Amino acid sequence: MKVLITGGAGFVGSHLAEAFLEKGDDVYIIDDLSTGAMENIQPFTEDERFKDRIFVHIDTIFNHDLMLELVGTCDVVFHLAAAVGVRYILENPLKSITINIQGTEKVLELCAKFKKKVLITSSSEVYGKHDHAPLVETDNIIYGPSSKFRWSYAASKLMDEFTAQAYYRTKGLQAIITRLFNTVGPRQTGAYGMVIPRFVSQALENKALTVYGDGRQSRTFTYVKDVVAALMALMAQDDAVGEVFNVGGTEEISIVELAEKIVKATGSTSTIELIPYEEAFEKDFEDMQRRVPGIEKIKALIGFEPKTSLDDIIRQVVEYTKKKRA
Ligand code: UDP
Repeated sequence: MKVLITGGAGFVGSHLAEAFLEKGDDVYIIDDLSTGAMENIQPFTEDERFKDRIFVHIDTIFNHDLMLELVGTCDVVFHLAAAVGVRYILENPLKSITINIQGTEKVLELCAKFKKKVLITSSSEVYGKHDHAPLVETDNIIYGPSSKFRWSYAASKLMDEFTAQAYYRTKGLQAIITRLFNTVGPRQTGAYGMVIPRFVSQALENKALTVYGDGRQSRTFTYVKDVVAALMALMAQDDAVGEVFNVGGTEEISIVELAEKIVKATGSTSTIELIPYEEAFEKDFEDMQRRVPGIEKIKALIGFEPKTSLDDIIRQVVEYTKKKRA
């Protein structure tokens, strides 16, 4: 099978590429390296087992001629190219909306034209300001006002979901929508705000861990390889078409407890510093207090179960970070 991965040099994309290469498929990657990195996929292009089956294009998904060729060539498309992370969205407001809305529409349009099955990655952000748990796919959504720019990310991802549904309804596009909840693991960078790589780097440098707010906000973290297995299984399942699925873990932890766990796991002498949101982001910044997915739907369809514990995830990230710094 020929698999196209937009954003294939990114954190999740590179793990997805690796899994398909391991499986024996041909992998086509398009990535503009805005947040992705060549070092994430370089080892595959040099690996004797993979190098004849990986085709890398460092380019934008707005290159229409190239995308025509790639979508036309491949059997299935995973659309992961996106602006991701609250910090990145706040620092690149226009670019983020353009890539997330217009970029996704372009990909969907081409997939409809060539009748290719496509999986898009939306986000747990779409749920907005809930603090109940678990969040299920049919829940209502609640956003803050448009003056609080973080909600643009949720709104853009929600618009992607509507656009995919519209192509499915009107053009018969075989589209699958996934909402990823705090996916973590090796190759994730802390440069765009993601908490685990940031805390691990801070702990390894014996610097204070920067916990935002009072640290009582909570998350569930999912290991990237568990997420990748779920995305692949959904793509292979005809009943997934036209549907929305949460993909996430169930082990809830507050951010301050996460910081304590990482200090312990690294044997660091770091302290924990509470930083007000307005210092970390901007005035009147709103965080999501709690974010726990209901995973009954994906479990029923593909038997999804997050396998990797948070302790194991942290161990993997620590090992990766140490190796990278060596
Ligand atoms: N966070 C933090 N310190 C950091 C980075 C993030 O306390 O250095 C918090 C952030 O405010 C959020 C949680 O950790 O409550 C998860 O942040 P991340 O950016 O990883 O993902 P999000 O859940 O915001 O999409």
